[in-house]
Amino acid sequence: MGFDLDDLVRENIKALAPYSSARSEHAGNAGIYLDANENAFGSPFGMLYDRYPDPLQTELKRSLSEESSVAASQIFIGNGSDEAIDLIIRIFCRPGLDNILICPPTYGMYEVAAGINDVAVKRANLTREFDIDIDAIFEAIDAHTKLIFLCSPNNPTGNSLEREAMRKVLVDFHGVVVVDEAYIHYSNKASFVEDLNVYPNLVVLQTFSKAWGLAALRVGLAFASEGIIGLLNKVKPPYNVGQPAQGLVIDALRDKRSLAETIERTIIERTALEHALGRFPSVHTIYPSDANFLLIKVADAAGLYRFFISEGIVVRNRSNVALCDQCLRITVGTTQENKALLSAFEKYETSSIH
Ligand SMILES: *Cc1c(COP(=O)(O)O)cnc(C)c1O
Repeated sequence: MGFDLDDLVRENIKALAPYSSARSEHAGNAGIYLDANENAFGSPFGMLYDRYPDPLQTELKRSLSEESSVAASQIFIGNGSDEAIDLIIRIFCRPGLDNILICPPTYGMYEVAAGINDVAVKRANLTREFDIDIDAIFEAIDAHTKLIFLCSPNNPTGNSLEREAMRKVLVDFHGVVVVDEAYIHYSNKASFVEDLNVYPNLVVLQTFSKAWGLAALRVGLAFASEGIIGLLNKVKPPYNVGQPAQGLVIDALRDKRSLAETIERTIIERTALEHALGRFPSVHTIYPSDANFLLIKVADAAGLYRFFISEGIVVRNRSNVALCDQCLRITVGTTQENKALLSAFEKYETSSIH
């Protein structure tokens, strides 16, 4: 038996009558709105923010649809993609019964969101080369595995997963496969959004937090079938994305040059950082990156981490996650920030600290 959305969704979610907000009950244009208990006298900023936002982000979806050629009905907009992760788990996984599968080392929020929802987590570690281990995945799943999360390019390793292996998971697994493309803009690999209508069980996550440089706005995207998007809209908090965020993202979408520039600068800096870090004897490995960070294996991750802190530089120590022993994850900074990082590293190498 293949993928059957209806069969996979929790019964209570199927039966759920969503909250009907004042704004969704009357979508037309009336002159006077006295239906939502908003403040008729405005906000501290005048009349700008006194109304609830559009619950379905119609205008933003129209812009996104024009950009991506994905139908608006196949786009969900969340309070960051973290919201989509949480909602997808809640739609499909019965607390205490069902489980998700992740491929460590990977993004920590899948496990946290599952934990909050009392959903068990199964694991199929990536291979030594940080690629998908198909056999491990299909050995680890059971009849209660509803979701598989694949992160590509993967956080914290930086590499893109092998496309053919991802395809195999999408075809052979009859639950939902969530492909997290938070870093796709930095990669030259094709997005799985292009294959949305090939795989009914595919959910692709993207975000405005990374390449778009809009982390403060909290806007993330899920692309999927109309059926899955309908479920996400049904369970989301009605006003999950604020109007200022919706408006600013629409503005950002008009400014594609800024996105292209930031990607280009990031990749130039990443390449320079990679070469510079390679010269330090205590750097054992620099893993190939399709993202805006580098994972490096060093002689003493904790010691180097503490040294950077003492120099006022914070990186991420990933030593305690699977396959990342003695690894630091370093976000690509500006030319100046990277220079500061490198001179701190130089100081560490020449000191007797290690
Ligand atoms: C940063 C990141 C996100 C982004 O989450 P938002 O909630 O959209 O800010 C999602 N997935 C991965 C793998 C990330 O690294």
